[in-house]
Amino acid sequence: MFPTILHVLSTSLPVTAAGVIAATTSGGGGWGGKTVMLDYSVYDRAARFAKDKYHTSLRKYVNDYLGTALKKEELLERGGLKSHLTIVLVQGNHLYVKDDKIEEVVDVAYHEDEKRLECLKDGNGECGHVAYCLNSNELGKLLAAA
Ligand SMILES: [Zn+2]
Repeated sequence: MFPTILHVLSTSLPVTAAGVIAATTSGGGGWGGKTVMLDYSVYDRAARFAKDKYHTSLRKYVNDYLGTALKKEELLERGGLKSHLTIVLVQGNHLYVKDDKIEEVVDVAYHEDEKRLECLKDGNGECGHVAYCLNSNELGKLLAAA
């Protein structure tokens, strides 16, 4: 946007560096940023959630969503989010969760007909193993393949 460019010029930052423009305008709700291609299916699904569920722009929805996911990744990378649970295998409709507290691999099954997860060790969908799976990227992969 024109006012953004004027702002950059007035602060005498090098306008040839796109990164500087983006950094200058990000966080202020400005239009700075970079373009990335989304797959058609991702675009359509994200656009639907942005509009129907969150009543916001696709741009804001994608940035919020990715920003949250990246914060989690960065915390995990720095060891700031330690869990005694790790998903070690995704096979068919099953997520296998290694639980370091009980030193066991627990089978969490996705029941496609009822659209729910069940921990076969605890016999329900209320335990920490299920909660862990609900927040995992692996669940998304399982659901995409189902
Ligand atoms: Zn469990």
